[in-house]
Amino acid sequence: MRGELRDIEAGGADYVHLDVMDGHFVPNLTIGPPVVTAIRKATALPLDCHLMVSNPDLYLDAFAAAGADIITVHAEACVHLQRTLSHIRSLGKRAGVALNPHTDEGVLKYVVNDVDLVLVMSVNPGFGGQAFLPTMLEKIARISEMMASRDRDILLEVDGGIAETTAEEVARAGANLLVAGVAVFGQADRGGAIRRIRAAAERGFATR
Ligand code: ZN
Repeated sequence: MRGELRDIEAGGADYVHLDVMDGHFVPNLTIGPPVVTAIRKATALPLDCHLMVSNPDLYLDAFAAAGADIITVHAEACVHLQRTLSHIRSLGKRAGVALNPHTDEGVLKYVVNDVDLVLVMSVNPGFGGQAFLPTMLEKIARISEMMASRDRDILLEVDGGIAETTAEEVARAGANLLVAGVAVFGQADRGGAIRRIRAAAERGFATR
């Protein structure tokens, strides 16, 4: 773990994105707050915790205490989304909402002022290494327009199938935070992989 963190720090990563899976909201099971605590001690980069869990309200305080800087919950997992988001902010953390590929961006309409980050899932969550769903480009563009029209300057994050080949078009559609898993950690030269993905995203930004 320390070696991987050192590689991405040296490669210029802006955040460490942590996929938390509960074996219920998604089929896989991954890390919990104790691992986040260990990662917090091992890096100075901000920790972006993506909770792919049912009933995320039960775990918000624990992830905040573990050292998360951003806590993102799935709209599909929250019965009282606005309350959940304001609770995350009350813990002094940035609040994110993630949307599964089939979830309409309209769910954001009444929480626009409660979010610091919107995460567009560009694969169905649960496993790494899946192919980017191109229909998500339209969704990214719509969310980007929605936030601009409300004068909201948020992080618009895209997660799933991001690589050098997809980074340019998601950035052009309006994303400003890209999550890469296999495209970085599956490479021998992780720093080089980050730099190539960033360069592709910058080409997309430049042609927006
Ligand atoms: Zn994620």
